[in-house]
Order: sequence, then C-alpha cells, then structure tokens
Amino acid sequence: MTTFLQTVLANIKDAGTAASLSKDAIELLSRAQREIRVSFPLARDTGSFEILEGYRVQWNDALGPFKGGIRFHHDVDLDEVRALACSMMVKCALMDIPMGGGKGGVVVRAKEYSDEEKERIMRLFARALGDVVGPEKDVPAPDVNTYPALMDAFADEYGKIVGIDAPGVITGKTIEHGGSEGRGGATGAGAFFVLQTIRPEVLPDRAITAVVQGFGNAGREIARRLEANGDRVIAVSDSKGAIQSESGLDIQKLVTHKSQTGTVVGFPGSSLISEDDLLALSCDVLVPAALENVITEKNADSIKAEIILEVANGPIDREADKILAGKSVTCIPDVLTNAGGVVVSYYEWHQNQNNERWTAPEVEERLISIMRKSSGLVLQRSKNLGATLRVAAYAIALERVLNAERGRGRLS
Ligand code: NAD
Repeated sequence: MTTFLQTVLANIKDAGTAASLSKDAIELLSRAQREIRVSFPLARDTGSFEILEGYRVQWNDALGPFKGGIRFHHDVDLDEVRALACSMMVKCALMDIPMGGGKGGVVVRAKEYSDEEKERIMRLFARALGDVVGPEKDVPAPDVNTYPALMDAFADEYGKIVGIDAPGVITGKTIEHGGSEGRGGATGAGAFFVLQTIRPEVLPDRAITAVVQGFGNAGREIARRLEANGDRVIAVSDSKGAIQSESGLDIQKLVTHKSQTGTVVGFPGSSLISEDDLLALSCDVLVPAALENVITEKNADSIKAEIILEVANGPIDREADKILAGKSVTCIPDVLTNAGGVVVSYYEWHQNQNNERWTAPEVEERLISIMRKSSGLVLQRSKNLGATLRVAAYAIALERVLNAERGRGRLS
C-alpha cells in the first residue's frame, strides 16, 4: 500500500507533468519550507507527568500565511503531517484563497484524556509554537479530535505570549470567541455543492442513492444535505459498525439516535452490514468521510459506485486510484471536495482581521459561489487535459502557487 505522503507527492508529479511544469518547479513544491518538532511535559489530572511530542509542518507560504489544522491522535507522525500540510497548500491554491499550506499534530491517545487535560495540551502546544505561528504567519484550525473550545484555548494562550488579543491566530473558534457562522458544517456543505456541480456530467437528472462511511461532523452534514435534496442515503457507518436501509435512512432521526447511543448501530429499521460490504454496495455516490487509505488495491475492484466523493483526506491510495480510473469511476478529489472547511476558516480569519461579523446566510452564499466556481474550473481543466479530476485540480493549484513563487522571486 502506498503511504498518504507517497500518494500526495505522486499526485504533484502527475499533475506537474500533465501541466508541463519544470523539474525544478515540481521539486520546489514537493518539499516543506519548515518542519518543527516540539516536546513538552503534561501534568495529568492524577498529578503525574508525561512528555508529549508534536509537529508543525509549514509546507508553502507563497500565497499567504500557512494554514492547516492541529490533530490529536496516537498515529500522528511526521510523514502524515507532511502529507496533510502539502494537501493544504493544494487546497488553498485551488480555492484561490490567499493562504498557504501547513498542518500540525500531537501524538496522543486523545480519547483517554479529559477535556481539561486536552486544553492543557493545546496551551502547551501554543507555547511551543509561539514564535512560528501568528495571524500573518501561520494560522492553525481544528482537525481530528480537536474542537472549538481547544481553538479558544490556543488563541487565549497565544494572546498571553504576545501581549495582545489576536483571535486571527487560529480559526474554528466558538462564535463567542471570534468564530464564524457556518464553520461547523462547512466541509459537508462544501462537498455537497461540489457534487451538485459535477453530478450532471456523470449521472442522469434524478434522485440518487448515496453511501456514507463515517457519520461524524462532515459525513453527517453531507448526509443531511443529500436527504434535504430528495436523494436517498441507503447506508452509513461509524467506528462501531455499518448499517443499511434500502428505502433510505431518516438522517435527522439517525443523528438523534447516534447522540443518544454513541453509534449509528442499532438504528430502528436498519440492518447491520460489514464495513467491506458497505463500501461495495450498489449506489450512485460513495462518500468516504472517515479515514485515509480505506480504498486500496484490495477492495477497489469491488466498488460499484459511479462517483466517489472524497470527503476524507486521502481515502483512496495510488494503486486503487488507477484501478478505479480503469473502471471509469469518477473520483472527486479530496483537495476539492473537502475544501469548504478551509474556505470558511479563511472567512473567519478575514472577519477577525477586519473586525467584521458575517451572518450564516452571507457565509453560505459565499461558500456556494466559491465551491461552484472551483468545481467548474476543475471540470473544464480535466476536459482540456484529458486527465482525471485529481490531476486537473492539482494542476490548477500548482500553477497558482508557482506564479506566487515567481512573484516573490523564489523561482525564476
Ligand atoms: P469526525 O471525527 O467528526 O468523524 C469521523 C467519523 O468517522 C466518526 O463518526 C467515526 O466514528 C468514523 N470512523 C472512524 N473510524 C471509522 C471506520 N474504521 N469506519 C467507519 N467509520 C469510522 O471527523 P470529521 O471532522 O467528520 O472528519 C472526517 C474526515 O474528513 C477526516 O478524514 C478529516 O481529515 C476530513 N476533513 C474534515 C474537515 C472538517 O472540517 N471537519 C475538513 C477537511 C477534511
């Protein structure tokens, strides 16, 4: 299996070659500008101490301050953070927002720590990164196992370090502490608008069936939007199991069921299926919205969906990507599909920097417009290049970053 970092770097090479970029240019975009490793002692609630390790990778800032989330997970390692930081560069450039790419992570089994401990970890991480982040330098955000209250803590700690209130140092904050309307559901909503733009090219004009792997923040929102659009979500899963209902799941009731029981499993009227069977169900659209590398050469052949909408980062590895292309499955790439999150993060940063407050409908209107525009450009470029949507999306993004690199005199 190809690692996520290998897949992302191969995507850069493929797109660079398709867009006739020079070898030097491809090399420049395939390396991080800076990588930071930190360690710090955490006081546990029990009074004991332990040393935690964290990373921040600053991939490229030609277009603007580095931008990308902070993940708390025991599988975090430098290569994973590099892959995610590089993807952020591509995402921001593709969306045409003035931000670069970065990512951070702390190696910690997050579910075994209390909220108070997680807040202390975030404050310690803010102290460790105090010199290299800032509203004009590097602007983190939430990612796996981090959430708005932790973003508030990071902003508060940074404010203490620099001696001024600087909410623009991080996004994804609570509304009370300078967060933006619409940030919570932005990734799922953005993915829905991308699908709406691309689906007429692939599917007939009728209600569709969808399968969603991962019923978390992003998966829930896209399921909700599809149902409201008259489409049918026929199966979903979470880390505890997968369920199916041929007549379609009632998403609102499923959200309530999950919040009461902690899982989608056991939802009345549904039957339990295996995770492998979920991915192989006959449907129009398969939405991986959980983890990296879930579709590999082992299961790619079993996929029956017409479209795969990559809400998760890197759900399809390189070998599987080739198998799916051979089967004419349309893969809508992560860098386009899930970019709604960073777009609204950018809106939050913009509001903070300019002392503005936008309403939820204002945010949604801007999000629809930017997602439709970017999806249309990717479709057009894929037709011009005779290449996949992934190659097209990367090609557009890489050209934008290189133009900015030339403008800064970092590349001739
Ligand atoms: P989340 O933690 O809210 O939800 C993840 C869901 O996946 C949970 O329901 C979890 O139970 C489920 N899951 C975990 N392991 C699973 C497994 N083996 N099989 C099936 N389900 C499993 O996370 P999220 O914010 O919804 O993010 C989901 C994906 O989208 C991640 O890959 C993330 O990097 C990506 N993403 C999220 C955002 C965002 O703004 N939320 C932005 C960009 C990309």
